Amino acid sequence: MNKKLHPEIIKHFHSTTFTTPIIGVTGGKGGVGKSTIAVNLAAAFVAQGKKVALIDADVDAPNDSLLLGIPLENPEPVTIMQPVFDPEKCTDCQKCVKACQMNSLFRSQPKTITLLGECNGCEACYLVCPAEAIGRGSHSVGTLYTTKRGNLTLYTGALQPGLAESALLVNAVRKTAFADADLFDIILVDTAPGTHCNVIGALKGADHVLAVTEPTPLGAHDLELILSLLDMFAVQTSVVINRSDLPGQKAKTEKTGRAGSTPVAAEIKQNKDLLAGYLQGRPVVNLFPNSSTAKIFLGLADRLAAAYPDWKKQARQEQL
Ligand code: SF4
Ligand code: SF4
Repeated sequence: MNKKLHPEIIKHFHSTTFTTPIIGVTGGKGGVGKSTIAVNLAAAFVAQGKKVALIDADVDAPNDSLLLGIPLENPEPVTIMQPVFDPEKCTDCQKCVKACQMNSLFRSQPKTITLLGECNGCEACYLVCPAEAIGRGSHSVGTLYTTKRGNLTLYTGALQPGLAESALLVNAVRKTAFADADLFDIILVDTAPGTHCNVIGALKGADHVLAVTEPTPLGAHDLELILSLLDMFAVQTSVVINRSDLPGQKAKTEKTGRAGSTPVAAEIKQNKDLLAGYLQGRPVVNLFPNSSTAKIFLGLADRLAAAYPDWKKQARQEQL
């Protein structure tokens, strides 16, 4: 049985300052076609005349722009505070060293504090310093892009290679998109693969999450993990089985997760149209709008739309 989180944590997870519904697209495992599902679903909503924000929250490997065939535009640097030490003012109290939860500050010699290792910009050292010996420098962690094409706006974060501060960038991308939330009918969030805290951070506020998987033993295993995690946060979830015609494992995948009680929202077979869209960098919904695959995405968009008849968030708090 899943660990139950405190109701206040769940309430906090679901709280947002706007009423535009958020649909998450995630998957316990990489390479299952999560981004393909996200961009095609975005294209399907746009085809239905909806104004869509698509957040590519996989900041380590953002690829929604490639799958949409649009270049990233309007770059903005995302910076965090990084301490700058003044040995002339330092009294050697070492309060900053003790305050750093990342254990990144080191007293290399008297009155000389050195930053070694990761800094998440929390400002704790700056705040505890009694001698104003720490200045607020800045450190770039990545770039945020906002790309508009008709009724679709793509918000992308690209982490600086080699850095580990992906959570900061995911938050920056969400914050930028959420500031525009009232302009959209729907917000789609395409997360990183896995079940780490960045995934949950990216899905915060989601009204419904599509857990994408494929019918393989690894896919079934990772699906179980992501469904358990979403269950802990009381997130309404359904499953999308990609490459559903892979032999042998579909029945097992359907049974996976909370004794098979999570509904399957869509099944997508391997097909040449999807492959052509993938190779050409265009959603199959745009490339072959009358294909059976495009109709699956359009149908999925229809069913999700039916859950939000006035395109406003449902009263999730009342359901919890
Ligand atoms: S808290 Fe300020 S004064 Fe104390 S060791 Fe750090 S830099 Fe120096
Ligand atoms: S800003 Fe935070 S993480 Fe960075 S060195 Fe200071 S206390 Fe440590």
